[in-house]
Amino acid sequence: MAINNSSYNEIMREYENIRANNRAAQVRRIEEVYKKIPQMKDLNNSTGSMAVSRYKESLKSGKISMPDLKNDIDKIKKDKEKLLLDAGFPKDYMEISYNCEDCRDTGYIEGKKCHCLQARIRKLLYAQSNLENILNKENFENFSFDYYDNKNILAGQNMTNASYMEGVKKFCERFADKYFKQNRAENDIALDSGEENDRKNIIFSGNTGVGKTYLSNCIAKVALDRYYSVIYLSAKELFEVLVKVKMEKSEEQKYLLLLDGIYESDMLIIDDLGTELSNHFTTTEFFHIINRRINNEKSTIISTNLSLDEMRDIYSERVTSRIRKSFIYIRLFGNDIRARL
Ligand SMILES: [Zn+2]
Repeated sequence: MAINNSSYNEIMREYENIRANNRAAQVRRIEEVYKKIPQMKDLNNSTGSMAVSRYKESLKSGKISMPDLKNDIDKIKKDKEKLLLDAGFPKDYMEISYNCEDCRDTGYIEGKKCHCLQARIRKLLYAQSNLENILNKENFENFSFDYYDNKNILAGQNMTNASYMEGVKKFCERFADKYFKQNRAENDIALDSGEENDRKNIIFSGNTGVGKTYLSNCIAKVALDRYYSVIYLSAKELFEVLVKVKMEKSEEQKYLLLLDGIYESDMLIIDDLGTELSNHFTTTEFFHIINRRINNEKSTIISTNLSLDEMRDIYSERVTSRIRKSFIYIRLFGNDIRARL
């Protein structure tokens, strides 16, 4: 789903409202003009009657004179404009106005989504993502290596943490570019399925504050800017939604929409896995989510302080073996960089 049908229909209803409001405003302006310039009404109606009389003439004479008709209309238009200006109105006061001149508030130009519709879709996707404000700050452009150690060699990596992070960042940029292709709004293509065993899921593992959430936000921004749907939830929030809907049978719209996003969004970010209270229900549901998203080729990004072994102890072997097969595992190093901000 880029956006679901009901969201799309809602946007289309907004366009209808815009058009209806603009038509109503035009009618009000015309009535205002008629009050101030009574002869305008006759003049306004005369364009139609002029066309009819010219048409009748042409039937009689056997030839249609388009130039005559055009001259008539131009003259009436000029007369009207003069009347308006003399009475202190702008000359286009009786014309309909559009919020978007390009698509005349239809959302489409020759069957393609107008920039105004694309902007509305993007705004909606951002609002649904739970990331609306943070992505202005946390994105690939703003990514800084200053917070990572560039002196000491990382054990087992043969490079400093700053160089290591450069590689990680590059990898994430390529990942985002590959799985969230341009111009989604134009042709509504599905996530590129690519070759078999192509892993479109990432698990960031490492201490608190080493950049796991930041990197997933960077990828999320690329996806959202290309009109893919993204949902961000902390593990705690994710399981809260599941408990509300599945155990407590809540029918609250907020939870139903989030559950839909958990299963269907093009990209799901589960932040801080392992910090939630887990029990048999949550671990079973977690497996179903991961499994269903992998089967439907939806991208999932998990960040966690846990190692894979620790994950196995909490969520069972079944979960970790699914993750091992379908996720790219990225280990991040270092201490909490936020302490140095
Ligand atoms: Zn438009």
